[in-house]
Amino acid sequence: MEPESFRDRISTVDKDDNRKWVYALKPSGYFYKLRSVVAYFLIAMIFLIPFIEIKGKPFFQVNVLDARIYLFGKVFWPQDFYILAFLFVSSIIGLVVFTVIYGRLFCGWVCPQTLFLEFIYRPIEWLIEGSPQKQKIQDKLPLSKTWTKKLAKHILYFLISLLIAHVFLSYILGVKQLMKLIKEPITEHKLLILGLLVFSFMFYIVFAYLRELVCTTFCPYGRLQSVMLDKDTMQVSYDHVRGEERQRFSKNHERTGGDCIDCHKCVEVCPIGIDIRHGAQLECTGCTACIDACDEIMVKVGFPTKLISYRSTNQIETRQGFSLNTRAKAYTMLLVVLITIFGILLATRKSIDPYLNKVRGQTYIKKNDKIIGNLYHLQIINKNTDTIPFKLHIDHGNIYEASAKPLILYPEKSNEFTIWLDMPENEVQHRITKLLVTLSPEGYDAQQIKVKFLGPF
Ligand code: SF4
Ligand code: SF4
Repeated sequence: MEPESFRDRISTVDKDDNRKWVYALKPSGYFYKLRSVVAYFLIAMIFLIPFIEIKGKPFFQVNVLDARIYLFGKVFWPQDFYILAFLFVSSIIGLVVFTVIYGRLFCGWVCPQTLFLEFIYRPIEWLIEGSPQKQKIQDKLPLSKTWTKKLAKHILYFLISLLIAHVFLSYILGVKQLMKLIKEPITEHKLLILGLLVFSFMFYIVFAYLRELVCTTFCPYGRLQSVMLDKDTMQVSYDHVRGEERQRFSKNHERTGGDCIDCHKCVEVCPIGIDIRHGAQLECTGCTACIDACDEIMVKVGFPTKLISYRSTNQIETRQGFSLNTRAKAYTMLLVVLITIFGILLATRKSIDPYLNKVRGQTYIKKNDKIIGNLYHLQIINKNTDTIPFKLHIDHGNIYEASAKPLILYPEKSNEFTIWLDMPENEVQHRITKLLVTLSPEGYDAQQIKVKFLGPF
């Protein structure tokens, strides 16, 4: 390869713009074992979370249809979405902070794309079609000799994609509702089935064909690495100071070069198809497969391990320990501030949210010589799971439901009432009088609602 040619195109595209299929060797070693434990735990969580409930409410659900989000068993209405917006911004900043300090650790260890591809789809491929080396040979044979294995693999791939699509749908509909829909005749839910098939097909294409292209080409987080990583970022790095000049290993010749024996194992094991020895690259997902591969070689040839390991460029060049730079410290402080604000917003969030507004087109009514009445629309969102009777009170005046509807708040509903507010004429001195209505829900803290009361000019 020409020295700088790797900069001209991504590693999986050849000079004629054709895709080069990656036959990455099966990883093995300390990091792969650790990553497997983390990955299967996270995959189990992705599948289990829709089933988890806290006090009868989903642990996490994005109920788009009813415009509600459940988080930690708490229901968030659109009125609360500013709190979630804070959480979203905090999460983005958190990811940036994490990336500035630890590089693309998220991609290699947590991202569902990596989890499903490396720990479900690829192991199935190894199981059905054999090792990557064997697959490379088989793919050169006519399809008539390999179609049974290929068909079996792709059927299994599609079934798993269908399962994943169901899991993601359960994050929107909830498991109970999804189960109910599954039991009903397909003909009653044609649109839903179509959507489910489209998503299943997308997952299938992503995991069966696109694979590493998602990380190198489509993923916006991957594309942003260049502005987040710097020389102090910890990432999977090749120690070029120790490794160069590369020299093939030979027991019979005295070694004059660096510790890299140019065995290419780190390249052959890379699921992205890059050579980490070219330095930090946008495509690297930090999967650690090359660390394990190189360590294994180093042990075999009797050299110290960690020629490839987690470290920053500055650590390699200065041979000093890891330290946080100013940018990482500033981002961390910002993150702490955002998390604190989120905590305060969450703690002070009202579980009963009242809105009292004048009925449109109405001014005031003189009920008799002494009483002036205003008509209001009262909306109370009860985010709790219990039915709550409540009372309304206003100093010096009288307040009651226009149609004598019982003052009860039904759970997880927007409860609506029409309210008369009557005030003695001598209390209404201006065109607009500002008043306070007290809402007292049984078993909950009373709240005061500000209202404008209209009187005669
Ligand atoms: S260079 Fe190493 S860490 Fe990066 S994607 Fe390839 S194998 Fe994984
Ligand atoms: S695995 Fe290690 S020794 Fe082999 S080429 Fe890669 S860096 Fe060099």
